[in-house]
Amino acid sequence: MDLTVLGSATPYPRPDEPASGYLVQTGTTAIWLDAGPGTLAELQRAIALRDLTAIVVSHQHADHTSDLLTAYYALRFAEDRPDRPVPLYAPRGMLEAMAAFLGPSSRTGLPQALDVRDLAEERSAIVGDLEMAWAPVEHGMPAFGFTFAQHGEVLLGYSGDSAPGPAVDTALAGATTVLIEAGTAAQLPTEPSVHHTPEEAGATAAAVGAARLVLTHIDGSITQEDARVRARSTFPGEVIIARRGLTITL
Ligand SMILES: [Zn+2]
Ligand SMILES: [Zn+2]
Repeated sequence: MDLTVLGSATPYPRPDEPASGYLVQTGTTAIWLDAGPGTLAELQRAIALRDLTAIVVSHQHADHTSDLLTAYYALRFAEDRPDRPVPLYAPRGMLEAMAAFLGPSSRTGLPQALDVRDLAEERSAIVGDLEMAWAPVEHGMPAFGFTFAQHGEVLLGYSGDSAPGPAVDTALAGATTVLIEAGTAAQLPTEPSVHHTPEEAGATAAAVGAARLVLTHIDGSITQEDARVRARSTFPGEVIIARRGLTITL
């Protein structure tokens, strides 16, 4: 299984770095995991749209979903569009939110492009030759963390956007490589946390027993090197910084 970073910026895209999006890929399966702004273009560097097995969005924040709007046009009109609706695993209400933005004609068009699966209703699915499982995480809105297993081995966990704690530990349990966000530089005692700091990302990776941490969605005030050093202070394994174009074989 390969993990390719399509974008890692937060909470908006930067020159040469789209916002949140990843490609989880095997020889026969391609999952677009989070559809942040700029990631649809990057996705097409890696695969033909017809080879997209499924789209998964962790929560509805725009830095993880806004490219779904133009993906709708791509899935309907691109030369290499799939010949069937693509499964979209999303929090409840995603399709209605898209329809509100895209206008009345999308009411009939959206079901031709996307086959929506409500993340609140199940906890796992077979997607191509992968088993995907998910569980709710703490982010101040409906949000989910995921694992991806092949041949019974849990090779990847993804935090989505999440505060540290038991919920995300449960969501990532057993994954050998974890992709965890570090969307805040420091927790404010006056506000409930909705993101990890780099130290907390390291601690979550350690808590779930991962061997490798891919740190992503790093708050813009933290340099990459600082993020790595801070995560290493709480995690003894390998720490990799997510950047557009990075591919890791799991
Ligand atoms: Zn978010
Ligand atoms: Zn985010």
